[in-house]
Amino acid sequence: MLENVHRFVHEDVEGAVIRILDDETLSANEFLAEEHQLEEGAEYSFAYTCCYLRYRGKHILIDAGFDPDTTPGALESLDVPPEAIDLVLITHTDRDHVAGLLMPDGSFTYPNAQHVVGRDLWEYLREPETLDSLIEEVRPFFRKFVRTFDDHMELWDESTEIVDGIRLIPSPGHRVGHALYELETDSTPILHTGDAFFHPLFAEHPDWPNVTDSIPDQAVESRKALVARAVETGALILSSHSPFPGIGRIEQDGDGYRWMEGL
Ligand SMILES: [Zn+2]
Repeated sequence: MLENVHRFVHEDVEGAVIRILDDETLSANEFLAEEHQLEEGAEYSFAYTCCYLRYRGKHILIDAGFDPDTTPGALESLDVPPEAIDLVLITHTDRDHVAGLLMPDGSFTYPNAQHVVGRDLWEYLREPETLDSLIEEVRPFFRKFVRTFDDHMELWDESTEIVDGIRLIPSPGHRVGHALYELETDSTPILHTGDAFFHPLFAEHPDWPNVTDSIPDQAVESRKALVARAVETGALILSSHSPFPGIGRIEQDGDGYRWMEGL
């Protein structure tokens, strides 16, 4: 059986990457522009994850998964009940990142949590035209999601410290208003990159567009800034869809960059 909770420790932060859906075998070529197609070795395991962090006395989730059972189940194995979650940081609102925030009866999965999202994203999502433009399969969920969270979501913009040591960093392009979260520690920060890159290949080639990003050119600019920041700070990187558990660092390698898997 696949491991569904990958625990790690970085300085005084205890964390866990939680698998929220089965891995998919995909070809990186599905994301790459024609001029960057790989001849071989393009197949890889695309993971779906969210992340739990015990940080400075707080219980934190970064994204929440696809359903309201899987992530709470994983948290239970860590002895963290849903009521204990203090803070939910949302990178963007694709269903695999936020559908787990609502119970079937429409109540909050994490009733005591402060929920944070990028301002641009929320203002775009809540527009009637945006909701109307969604495919029918997902429209009812997002109408309910916006209705439930509209007075509840905390909206942040620019590189802002949300609470002690935790910063939202706008990183638009994958979606309108997509955000990263950086948590300072006594050594290198932890940087959750959400869907800013789907595969370490994009960390090594930040100028390569991901053709499935909503705004590929803007995503490239955001990715370049992310990579420069990660190299400078030596951040421990967490990512949503890189091969499980998707933890690593980015190092300068001559004129380019190298993804270093692991802690
Ligand atoms: Zn995603």
